[in-house]
Amino acid sequence: MKQSQMFIPTMKETPADAESASHRLLLRGGYIRQNASGVYSYLPLGYKIIKKIEAIIREEMDRTGSQELLMPAMQPAELWHETGRWDVYGPELMRLKDRHNRFFALGATGEELITSLVRDYLNTYKKLPMSLYQIQTKFRDEKRPRFGLLRGREFIMKDAYTFHDSAESLDQTYWVMYHAYCRIFERCGLTFRAVLADSGAIGGKDTHEFQALAEIGEDTIAYSDTSDYAANLEMASVLDQEEGKDGETLPLEKVEGKQEVDGNQAITAYWFQTRSERVVVFLKASDEINDVKVKNLLGTDLIELITGSSEDAMHPAEGVRVFADNGLKHVARAAYYNQAENSTYFHLDPSRDLPIESFDDLRFIKEGDPSPDGSGVIKFARGIEIGQVFKLGTKYSEAMNATYLDTDGKAKPLIMGCYGIGISRTLSAVCEQYHDDEGMIWPKSLAPFTIHLITVNPKKEDQLALSEQLYSQFIQEGYDVLWDDRKERPGVKFAESELIGCPVQVIVGKRASEQIVELAARKDTERVETSTAQLSDAVKQLL
Ligand code: ATP
Ligand code: MG
Ligand code: MG
Ligand code: MG
Repeated sequence: MKQSQMFIPTMKETPADAESASHRLLLRGGYIRQNASGVYSYLPLGYKIIKKIEAIIREEMDRTGSQELLMPAMQPAELWHETGRWDVYGPELMRLKDRHNRFFALGATGEELITSLVRDYLNTYKKLPMSLYQIQTKFRDEKRPRFGLLRGREFIMKDAYTFHDSAESLDQTYWVMYHAYCRIFERCGLTFRAVLADSGAIGGKDTHEFQALAEIGEDTIAYSDTSDYAANLEMASVLDQEEGKDGETLPLEKVEGKQEVDGNQAITAYWFQTRSERVVVFLKASDEINDVKVKNLLGTDLIELITGSSEDAMHPAEGVRVFADNGLKHVARAAYYNQAENSTYFHLDPSRDLPIESFDDLRFIKEGDPSPDGSGVIKFARGIEIGQVFKLGTKYSEAMNATYLDTDGKAKPLIMGCYGIGISRTLSAVCEQYHDDEGMIWPKSLAPFTIHLITVNPKKEDQLALSEQLYSQFIQEGYDVLWDDRKERPGVKFAESELIGCPVQVIVGKRASEQIVELAARKDTERVETSTAQLSDAVKQLL
């Protein structure tokens, strides 16, 4: 592609509101443009990368035997009423009304829609398992859209859904998806960790998140280098759950009451149900909370509390994590210390955790503590959640009456799994991991163009002629080439080339008539003179 003909509106200045490297560089490099808060256009360069991520995802999903379909973004409200999520999803769900006064949700996720599609067809065990996926725009009216594509209100997601007739079949597919996700993120060049996680508004039981390591990440993960242990600190319960306890809920009415802390501080506890069906215990302390023991929350010594200082509101308090002290199996819920409010929040999930009376062995652990499974020490890292896999069980099929006839002739609810990847967020996560002060340094698998061919002065005939020759040669060799044929100052061209960040730069300048060009890898800017005869091999070596 000739750069003179491309729509790449680069910016010299750093946009004031762009707080993260990916947001800044995607805007500056002419990859994306903001249209409204949390709403972006993918410009040609950015969309090329999106399509490359999508191609990797399609290949790996197809390999698992999943079939691609495309469901509407506009989903009838009736479906969301069937599961009750029209009410519990809260203001994050975007809603609209048509001219006939019928309500719709703009898809935040697709469990209701897919279940409605398959429920009549998947009526016998003979048709199971079944795996379907789509790549579709999602809408979530996020409270705090931020960091560009990292937390948008309109974003691109791959969502997959599987249907089964046994827990074993779901388990098998869950791990197939887990490994497919590992391959997808490896192919995108990301450094990531798969961690035990919280199922949030989607519901369900077993779940892992895929977290790309990055300082800007909004999640904190705990992991150990010497074992497989890795968990989001907002993690799912993996406490020994007794059969039948699943789905048991805590009393959800709001309770207010003064509690004693170490015999002198007064703490007020509030209980209420959040839209994601979590119970939040909100403890408001009158004095600074430090090394205190919260007693008598529900009549027992519950939680030992150590808070660190944190700058951000709702930032996970440093060193404050909740784990159950029962050997290998551990539970963690986030504990947040909000400095502005001088309050500590605990997140508990009533749908999966044991009743609150069983939390009497909770304790907080800090970075550097021994890990839960007895090997190594706990480390903390910041992560960007790029994907999540869930075992949903029968939550949606029961609510929506999606049953199949089993071998025993009895009607049973379909057992489900669901699996999401934030495609636009993945793009940003890659940016966070692949850049320097000058701009992007794309990994080969996702670069919008592999080679940036730069003609220093296209007014010089020898430079133009050699550039034209190399341009068609590279295309013939199968490379994606961006040819900077513009009549711009060399300084501008080089700066923009660094900003755009294609893996290889080929510079046609003064020695064009001698068939000599300069070659550089974006990640190491030293330029080396190469004769055109050796160019093909030299380029290959850089890739
Ligand atoms: P988060 O915890 O960041 O709010 P989530 O847990 O609500 O994300 P899921 O419901 O698990 O998100 O959706 C699947 C994937 O969609 C996420 O793993 C993430 O990669 C992506 N995603 C979710 N919300 C957004 C958003 N607002 N902008 C961009 N991508 C998103
Ligand atoms: Mg969310
Ligand atoms: Mg999440
Ligand atoms: Mg998630």
